[in-house]
Amino acid sequence: MKGGKEVQHYDKFVGKEILSDEESKLRFGDQWKESGEKIKNVHEALAELYEKAGEPKKDLELEKSDRDREIIELVANATDRFLEELGRNKKVSVPLDHIHYLKEGGVKEYTHGRLGVGSHASVLGEILVDRRNDLETAITTFHELWHAKVYTALQTTIKGKFKAYREGFSIYSREGDKRWYYYLDEALAGYMTKRFFNEVLERDESFKKEIQESKKPIDTTRLRELADFSRWVHELWERNRDQFKSKDEIVKLFLDGQVNGRILPIARLVEKTYGKEKFRQFGVGF
Ligand SMILES: [Zn+2]
Repeated sequence: MKGGKEVQHYDKFVGKEILSDEESKLRFGDQWKESGEKIKNVHEALAELYEKAGEPKKDLELEKSDRDREIIELVANATDRFLEELGRNKKVSVPLDHIHYLKEGGVKEYTHGRLGVGSHASVLGEILVDRRNDLETAITTFHELWHAKVYTALQTTIKGKFKAYREGFSIYSREGDKRWYYYLDEALAGYMTKRFFNEVLERDESFKKEIQESKKPIDTTRLRELADFSRWVHELWERNRDQFKSKDEIVKLFLDGQVNGRILPIARLVEKTYGKEKFRQFGVGF
């Protein structure tokens, strides 16, 4: 940890934090640390990874223009405002060098076709965004920055890799091979990105032209997942009207799970509505 600076891009770490020589070798091999030292303290290792994540992505990264910085500031302020409103108890700031703007097609190239125009790496605490027009870039930046700032827990898995344990609402197994509520977590990010579009971008003069001239409907990200989520909230509302004043209250409960990590109230609600074990079962493909 250089300069004693603590990395702060995760809320919690699950698993053993100080490793023995054998465990370090088992998990990270011989030459994992640049200095050749073995990894003992996983937080130090994560800090080292985090520092490396601030380096530009070779051949793909664009130097940020003044307009890029303006867009990022607008997005960062909006995420902070929304998070405060939702009672986020930890403030995560993502430095400019961990927000990578890539040339068009860069995210796809960098992630070997795994992801489209944006990505977020919870272990590294970085986001990647394809620089397209201002509007599309702002929308993707919000979506990815949202992921980066909500509740995050990391782990070394039983198989010995650094991985997420919780990303917002979604949960990983300790083997690191299973994940529950991936699409739900995306739907929630999509929900907030839509809010960002409605409450910030649509009211901002500098985006007016691109919004008016857009030939296709504006994609505020994860619309399909958001539609599935809305249907589910509607059903939960229908079946639990005695417990909630409005559908919004249920949405807020889901957002609390994503933003602050508190998923128990939703788990209880789901089991009360559909029966025991259902919360876990539903999370498999959702
Ligand atoms: Zn996403």
